[in-house]
Amino acid sequence: MRSIYHSDTAPLHRPIFEGNEREYLVDCIDSNFVSSVGARVKEFEGHCASLTGASHAVATVNGTAALHMALVLAGVQSGDEVISQALTFVATCNAISYCGARPVFVDVDRDSMGLSPEALEAWLSEHAELRDGQAYNRATGARLAACVPMHTFGHPLRIEEVVDICGGYGIMVIEDAAESLGSYVGERHTGTFGKLATLSFNGNKVITTGGGGMILTNDDALAKRALNLTTTAKVPHAYEFVHDEVGYNYRLPNLNAALGCAQMEKLPAMLEIKAEIAAQYRDFCDKHWLRFVDARPGTRPNFWLNALILDSREERDAFLEHTNANGVMTRPIWRLMSRLEMFKDCQTDGLENSRWLEDRVVNIPSSVPEGALKGR
Ligand SMILES: *Cc1c(COP(=O)(O)O)cnc(C)c1O
Repeated sequence: MRSIYHSDTAPLHRPIFEGNEREYLVDCIDSNFVSSVGARVKEFEGHCASLTGASHAVATVNGTAALHMALVLAGVQSGDEVISQALTFVATCNAISYCGARPVFVDVDRDSMGLSPEALEAWLSEHAELRDGQAYNRATGARLAACVPMHTFGHPLRIEEVVDICGGYGIMVIEDAAESLGSYVGERHTGTFGKLATLSFNGNKVITTGGGGMILTNDDALAKRALNLTTTAKVPHAYEFVHDEVGYNYRLPNLNAALGCAQMEKLPAMLEIKAEIAAQYRDFCDKHWLRFVDARPGTRPNFWLNALILDSREERDAFLEHTNANGVMTRPIWRLMSRLEMFKDCQTDGLENSRWLEDRVVNIPSSVPEGALKGR
């Protein structure tokens, strides 16, 4: 850690503004276009579409709003159930709740830390029944309206298998790719496998717009509706205010998009540097018998937040104590969603690997070091 950051202290992940951020922001202010109608919003959407290969990208105020909209676009309604991970950031499940739906928690794989195709298949074959091409939960009678797998810390999960399995049950897949901008399965970017996907540009993500999110899809009609829904469902007109459904004020402001355009220019260099940091951690861990969470074969993660798997909860706690007391910011992985008050009654499959990882995974400092972008 000290050889990477040349310092005795290091945060987990800090944003870095060493490109055109200041210039683009000043341009916004000088032009008076600070809100959502500015040209930077479309430009930023274009950057995200071309980077990921998605046909459409629709910018939102944050990643949670993007998830909320993706679920609405997928037709998730009150009383439905949505299959997801207990091992995720709470935003995934909050968005499901905003729709009046309830999560069902299926286990993750130990290597990807994302939704396990085997666990999904097993849960569906035991609990799901198909009626008129729609899957229902036999135990609760609720419709299984969607599945939201999440690419944990930027490590791609086995998304192709998850999409195949869900396809067999008529369940729409929405990838929570909030953490995986710049992560690939083969040559294909995460967030292009499901019918819909979402990104986040929160301050702690690979790149940031201050706050921001994105809906990705290849479906023309869904993209059109996404834009309508996130802009109060206003029918375009020279002066009349007509709205054709209950919409949301979720569109990204131009100021945030301007920041995003500048950050996007630096993303390739940042990904290069993050891969180099991961390589240094890998070498260190190999020498010290530590388990580093590495790329699965056939994937190229963005190494957003590097992670270690320690031997036990006791070892994890000792590691967290020691590092934080010495100015090195480390954090445990999230408490499982199934153990939070608001989701404690949701159905689970036992979550064996999720619980195993919950006890053992810690994140270690992963920022791009100050000045490292110079000359790249
Ligand atoms: C960051 C994040 C989100 C969205 O967060 P916002 O702060 O609303 O942009 C959603 N899911 C996961 C897994 C995340 O890490």
